[in-house]
Amino acid sequence: MQLLALALLAAAPAASATPDADIRAAAERIAPAVVAVRRDLHAHPELSNREERTGHLVAERLRDLGLEVRYPVAKTGVVGILRGGRPGGVVALRADMDALPLDETNDLPFRSRVKGVMHACGHDAHTAMLLGAAEVLAGLKPRLPGTVVFLFQPAEEGAPEGEEGGAPLMVKEGALDHPKVEAVFGLHVGSWVSVGQAGWTDGPIFASSDSFRIEVEGKTVHGAQPHMGLDPIPVAAAIVQALQLVVSRQVDGRQPRVLTIGRIEGGTRFNIIAGRVTMDGTLRTHDATVRADIKSRMARTVKGVAEAHGTTATLRFLDDGNPPTVNDRALAQEVAFPALQRVFGAGALRVEPQMVAEDFPFFGEKAPYFYFLLGTRNDAKGIGSVNHTATFDVDEDALPLGVRALATLAWDFLGRKK
Ligand SMILES: [Zn+2]
Ligand SMILES: [Zn+2]
Repeated sequence: MQLLALALLAAAPAASATPDADIRAAAERIAPAVVAVRRDLHAHPELSNREERTGHLVAERLRDLGLEVRYPVAKTGVVGILRGGRPGGVVALRADMDALPLDETNDLPFRSRVKGVMHACGHDAHTAMLLGAAEVLAGLKPRLPGTVVFLFQPAEEGAPEGEEGGAPLMVKEGALDHPKVEAVFGLHVGSWVSVGQAGWTDGPIFASSDSFRIEVEGKTVHGAQPHMGLDPIPVAAAIVQALQLVVSRQVDGRQPRVLTIGRIEGGTRFNIIAGRVTMDGTLRTHDATVRADIKSRMARTVKGVAEAHGTTATLRFLDDGNPPTVNDRALAQEVAFPALQRVFGAGALRVEPQMVAEDFPFFGEKAPYFYFLLGTRNDAKGIGSVNHTATFDVDEDALPLGVRALATLAWDFLGRKK
């Protein structure tokens, strides 16, 4: 019995070796279709948790490719399951689908047709590339050694207030459970690196993000008699300063962290002491422990400074926030980097982690993950605006590379499993 198994193994061609040439040929063949999908999505952007048209289009397309489809998941999301012709493990590839509340100023034939909504973060490209990877892998299904789960996720930019959404809801609704996913791969387009390049790390790549609100209570009175009331404006100013001292003086200098107060509101008139000041801000770190430590120091500081001035202030974190995106070291070094090197050659670059954030790491509650940056900047074409701006665009020459990278990462992961 054992001998027979050995003989079969010896006789079989390298079944699990990734068919790089076939993946490349397929990705290049379907490139115009991937671009067409991206342009269609770009022209019809939808906000977080409102990706009705997009989700429907994705589900239809996956059904056409012969995948098992779960739809809707996490409100408007889609899970596609491709079971290969050979036994093996289970790997997931993820794309986000939502757009942002921005008016596009690009003069493109496929510019947004929806006023006030724009694919300014490139999720149109993510969705189109993942559909492309599904098509490539579906075309090679008989040889595929295992199962690929395609996660089309809504609301990466954050669900509307009071709604659940995004990666946490995908996880909650079991998107990674049936079948049980063993690793998750994802990417983000942007101008961090140029077209033809991929930026990777084997540790942190994106930051945690926590948005918070501080409210300082005052007592309104005539502006000429502050001693008869309680002026929250200088207290708010003291809190802003003290919070900057928390991040600059109380945290290990080798730890990346940013604390920004982006909005302050208080008062009605130049000669009236304000009744209350509200401040909104964001906290970014690359480490879960540092994140928790700063959050507790912030609470202590806000309370203490307010008390020192004889008033009260509250600090509230507005939602659960995103954990830092920290790539699994073994997955990065043993699977992802060799795969990216075959697709991008010398363009597979180790990059410094960014302070922007993602909800992708919520998938890490279920499986190790790897996330990388797909370069879409092209200075010669004037494409270089950063994500979340009204002039953001991607060089579409990156799309077939992204399709190849996703398909290759999935196959490499499955192929190395015995
Ligand atoms: Zn974004
Ligand atoms: Zn994004």
